[in-house]
Amino acid sequence: MTEALAYVGLGANLGDARAVLTAAYVELQKLPGTRGHRCSPWFRSAPIDSTGPDYLNAVASFDTTLSPQALLDALQRIELAHGRERPYRNAPRTLDLDVLLYGERSISTPTLTVPHPRLHERAFVLWPLAALAPDLVIPGRGPISALLPSVAGQALEPAD
Ligand code: ADP
Ligand code: MG
Repeated sequence: MTEALAYVGLGANLGDARAVLTAAYVELQKLPGTRGHRCSPWFRSAPIDSTGPDYLNAVASFDTTLSPQALLDALQRIELAHGRERPYRNAPRTLDLDVLLYGERSISTPTLTVPHPRLHERAFVLWPLAALAPDLVIPGRGPISALLPSVAGQALEPAD
């Protein structure tokens, strides 16, 4: 079975965001067909196109034999287990798990776009990604180091 290196974005801004992110990363580590998990440092950011308290964000990476869609399904099950509701677009959420990258693949289906379509314009994704993989090249977008300056205006703090 072929294995791909996947990157998953984690975000939470309702309830005990710290506890939710910790639990979500534990659940990612338990997913069948995944191994070699790493988690970036955590960052705090103000909501973009959204409301509510600050977000806590991180990026996890792991090798997986899950297909891209099976990975998305698994992430959505973890979101649901944390009581995620989707009352409206960009609503505050207890937990958001996104497939950021799946190896070097570009994927476009009705349910899944990879690389994640807004990855390159979000500081709260690019900084944790760069912390995990400073030499990463984003398919269709180029080296991550070249993308960071364009998000310099977005406030982001280390969260410990
Ligand atoms: P967002 O994360 O953009 O704020 P949601 O988490 O509510 O929005 O996701 C809405 C839909 O986006 C999901 O039902 C999923 O099918 C779709 N989607 C498309 N590409 C991706 C991706 N790379 N990662 C996660 N969801 C994705
Ligand atoms: Mg999402």
